[in-house]
Amino acid sequence: MTIYDYGFIGEQTGTVARITAVHRDRFGIAGDFGEGYARLKSAEYYAGNEVFPTAGDFVTIDYIKNGDSRILSTLPRRTVFNRRDPGPIPREQAVAANFDYVFIMQSLNHNFNPKRLERYLTLAWQSGATPVILLTKADLVEDYWEYLTQVERIAAGVSTHVVSARTGYGLNRLGAYLQPGKTLVFLGSSGVGKSSLVNTLAGREIMAVGGIREEDSRGRHTTTHRQLIRLESGVMIIDTPGMRELAMWETTEGLSDAFADVEKHLGRCRFSDCTHTKEPGCAIRAALEAGELELSRWESYRKLKEESIDKDEMLRRKREWSKNVAKFSKDRKKEIW
Ligand code: GDP
Ligand code: ZN
Repeated sequence: MTIYDYGFIGEQTGTVARITAVHRDRFGIAGDFGEGYARLKSAEYYAGNEVFPTAGDFVTIDYIKNGDSRILSTLPRRTVFNRRDPGPIPREQAVAANFDYVFIMQSLNHNFNPKRLERYLTLAWQSGATPVILLTKADLVEDYWEYLTQVERIAAGVSTHVVSARTGYGLNRLGAYLQPGKTLVFLGSSGVGKSSLVNTLAGREIMAVGGIREEDSRGRHTTTHRQLIRLESGVMIIDTPGMRELAMWETTEGLSDAFADVEKHLGRCRFSDCTHTKEPGCAIRAALEAGELELSRWESYRKLKEESIDKDEMLRRKREWSKNVAKFSKDRKKEIW
C-alpha cells in the first residue's frame, strides 16, 4: 500500500501520511510505511504556524519505526468541513478533510425534510466536494416519486439515488463514486442508515448499527477509534463525532421551519428595508389585512426576531448552544467511540 492508495494527489518530498484518527494528543496515521501513530512536532504547531490536522488530512512526518512518528506539517486541504468549536473561544474547527463526495442522506420513511436537505447541500457545496443525495430505506415505502420531485426542485443537477441497505436496492448505481482512492463522508441525522450503508459497502459489520457498538470476546473492535476507514475495495470513509454534530445543527436553527407561513410573505415589500409599519407597498400589512397572515403569528415572529437581534441574548444562546454541543459530543463519545 502506498500513500496514493490513501487518495494522495501530487508530489511531495519527504514522507507523507494520512490521518486516520484524532485522539487527544495522538494521531492514527497510514501511508507507505503501513499504519502507526504520530504526535505533533510541538514547536511548529503551538507557534501557530501550522493548521492542526483532522481526520483525512495529509501530513508530512518524520517516520519513527518503533514509536510515535512526528508530524511536521499539514498539507493544504482539497476539501474540508468546519464547525464552530464548542470551546470558550468561538472559532472554526475542521472535522473532516480531503473527501471527494458528500453522501447527503435522508430516509424515505420519516426523515425526509426539504429544509434540512437545503442546509446539507449548502454545507456540502461550501466544503468543496461533490454532493450526492441518497434517499435511504427504499424498502419501507411503496412509492418515492413524490420525494424525487421535491428533491429535484431543491437540488436540480445534483445526482440523487434511492437506495436500501437492507435489500441492496439502488446500490449498483453508486459504483461511479465507489472508486479506489476516493473518500466519502456521510451527512445525515442519526438513524437514517449511515452505519448500515457502510457495513453493506464493506461487506461486513464494521460499524455498529443503531448506535451501539458490538463487543467481541476480546473487547472492543479494533475500529473503535478509527475515524477514516479504508475498505478492501480501496474506498475510504470518514466518520467523526464532529461530522455527526455538523448534521445536528438543524435543531438550533428551527426558526425558519417554525415560521414558514410568516416568512413566505417576507421580501415582497416595495422597500427592501421596510419596517412593516407605515411604508407604502408593504406586503406584510397587505397580507394581514387580507387575512392571509394571522396577526398573532406575525407578532410572535417579530418578537422572536427582535430578541435575536439583542446581542447579549445572542451571546447567551451561543454559550448555551456550545454547552449543549460539548455535552452532546461527550455523551456521544461515551456511546459510540
Ligand atoms: P445511522 O445512525 O445513520 O448510522 O443509522 P443506522 O445504520 O444505525 O440505522 C438505524 C436503523 O435503521 C437501524 O435499525 C437499521 O437496521 C435501520 N436501517 C438502516 N438501513 C435500512 C434500510 O435500508 N432499510 C430498513 N428497513 N432499515 C434500515
Ligand atoms: Zn413591509
